[in-house]
Amino acid sequence: MSVSVHRRGALSLHYKVACTIGFMGAEIVDWSDVERKLSDQVTVLVGDKNGAYPSGNSVVISGSGESVIIDPSITVVERGGAPVAIDAVLTSHGHEDHMAGNGLFDTARVHVHHHDLLAVQSLDGLRDVYGLPDAVWAEFEPSVVEEFSYVGRPDAIGFDDGHVFDLGGVTVEAVHLPGHTRGHSGFRISDGTFFCSDIDLTGFGPYYGDTWSDLDQFEASLHQIRDEDAHHYVTYHHKGIIEGRQDFVERIDAFTSVIQRRHDEMLAFLAEPHTLDEMVRHRFVYRPSVQIPFADSVEHRTASLHVDRMVARGEAAEVEPGLFQAA
Ligand SMILES: [Zn+2]
Repeated sequence: MSVSVHRRGALSLHYKVACTIGFMGAEIVDWSDVERKLSDQVTVLVGDKNGAYPSGNSVVISGSGESVIIDPSITVVERGGAPVAIDAVLTSHGHEDHMAGNGLFDTARVHVHHHDLLAVQSLDGLRDVYGLPDAVWAEFEPSVVEEFSYVGRPDAIGFDDGHVFDLGGVTVEAVHLPGHTRGHSGFRISDGTFFCSDIDLTGFGPYYGDTWSDLDQFEASLHQIRDEDAHHYVTYHHKGIIEGRQDFVERIDAFTSVIQRRHDEMLAFLAEPHTLDEMVRHRFVYRPSVQIPFADSVEHRTASLHVDRMVARGEAAEVEPGLFQAA
């Protein structure tokens, strides 16, 4: 969930056919029209519209022992599989767009950082990660199930920071980068590829609007990922593949600066005293024209994280109960 627009009702043909004939397993599918091979072992399956939400850029890593896929997107579900047989799915974090293929690869193991395990295991767990109010969840849930083909995987396995998946001749190391969600993780692949997931370097900026999000953790993760030295950086959404460290550093710095820009805009708004609800109505994350069921919830969580920071720094104070003003 990190987005500005929602495409609804786009049930995939594969999904419909699979439901009709009662078969949901993945097949081996030709991706040669849109795949990007980064090395002998690593291929990016570029999602619809260059991986813009609701799709994403999934990564297949093939070793001599096993093949895994990172974050199978709705495009992978629409196409019905990956170019190779998949032994395991690595889920970078528990958001709907990153788990679309977890049901399709029904014979593969699923791995995710243990903090986000609940979102992978069941719809109730996913709801807890978002922390959406009942009415908002009721509106969003059908989209999670239909558009994103959500299938809970109670058999999913938790990993910790630094866990290494040895696929035979190539390794994938989990790098815990929390903040977007508590368990959000990147993957450091031994061929020189780094998967950044939803540190996605878009102009939208960092998304920390869930109950499971944390601003301080996100900033620490941005600081940490900036030191990654890779040949290719893969973001899940439409920035896609970034080549070389210099370009990456420029983009990560621009992405990081959105946090301070939001902070400054909110602080300027609080020149006059305002409540959090007034900040929600003003819109600091989404443009006022964006209509998505969870916008107010995301605005509220984001504003409250920034106001907490202002109060802690002495930049603003609670002048009356529930009313905040810049110092
Ligand atoms: Zn996400």
